[in-house]
Amino acid sequence: MENNIGCEIDFLPVGNGDKSGDAIAVRYGYPGNFKVMVYDGGTKESGEALVEHIRKHYGTSYVDYVVNSHPDSDHASGLSVVLEELKVGELWMHRPWEHSSKILNSFRDGRITKNSLSERLKDSLYAAYHLEELALEKEISIHEPFQGNKIGEFMVLSPERGWYIDNLIPEFDKSPEQKEIEESYFSPGYILQSLNEGISYLTSLIKSSWNIDMLRDDVETSAENESSVILFLPFKKHPILLTGDAGVQALKKAAYFAELKFDIHLNKILKFIQVPHHGSRHNVSSPVLDRIVGMRKDRNDGLTSKTVFVSSSKESTKHPRKAVINSFIRRGVKVFNTKGRAIRHSFNMAKRPGWVPLAPVQFSDNEEGWD
Ligand SMILES: [Zn+2]
Repeated sequence: MENNIGCEIDFLPVGNGDKSGDAIAVRYGYPGNFKVMVYDGGTKESGEALVEHIRKHYGTSYVDYVVNSHPDSDHASGLSVVLEELKVGELWMHRPWEHSSKILNSFRDGRITKNSLSERLKDSLYAAYHLEELALEKEISIHEPFQGNKIGEFMVLSPERGWYIDNLIPEFDKSPEQKEIEESYFSPGYILQSLNEGISYLTSLIKSSWNIDMLRDDVETSAENESSVILFLPFKKHPILLTGDAGVQALKKAAYFAELKFDIHLNKILKFIQVPHHGSRHNVSSPVLDRIVGMRKDRNDGLTSKTVFVSSSKESTKHPRKAVINSFIRRGVKVFNTKGRAIRHSFNMAKRPGWVPLAPVQFSDNEEGWD
């Protein structure tokens, strides 16, 4: 039955300057019976582009599933245009403001009430909250994506519900200060990370070595990013992984769940992977890439049949990091970057007139060092 199933994934360009985002459309199924999913909408501008793209290239104004990976506005804003201008079957997004009663006791300030916390989250995550408002107005059903849920043929690998509510929401940027916990933590990676972020334009390039990933194992990203919905499309011939802005914690949990649930190793089967967080080096480590993408290859081995896409704004100096892209290439995958263009990956789908093959990104001879 899966024999002639096909799939196409379109990454539309998002952002300018150093601001990147994601606007992704997916169509899969059989001729005459396709499903359409939008996974993040980028800015309003890219939302408009998504609407036009779906009408023109998918020949429909119906989107079965709209998924918001996490509430940051560079992923959520454009989805409001999709909800306004197209017909939508289901909206899948987290509603952190609905969980405030369960996490109240993790905060230091006793005056914080369930309602004040909800309001604070709605305000600070307005781009995402606005999607809920629109969906309620248009009577589109809203579902929260947690590990094990199915969205069409896709399976949610992360976040797990308990982890999301108990650990991630209290860490959101606009959540109130947490109570002090009676243990001390020290994460050298975290300190280096903030220092490095501040002076990223000064990061000096060093000569790349094929045999060494210039990645750290102790990197961290924001709780909002870690809450990204990681989606797995388990088509036997062409399994796909979408990662949003997920970091090493979420990616590890996703790999573990896939191993447990499907008895598969993502690194052995995946054919298409979204590079998380626009190619930031705070979201991947060598062990995580080994587990999800595959082990490093010999330079002469050539490329495997795996493809990865990264979405970064045209002028970005920060995204993607050469060190991250090189680490993917060492694992034999073909890397493609939006950089202001729409790019398409397809499997068993009709050719699109006028779209031409794209050359993969080459291994860089220099990459960013950490010092
Ligand atoms: Zn992002």
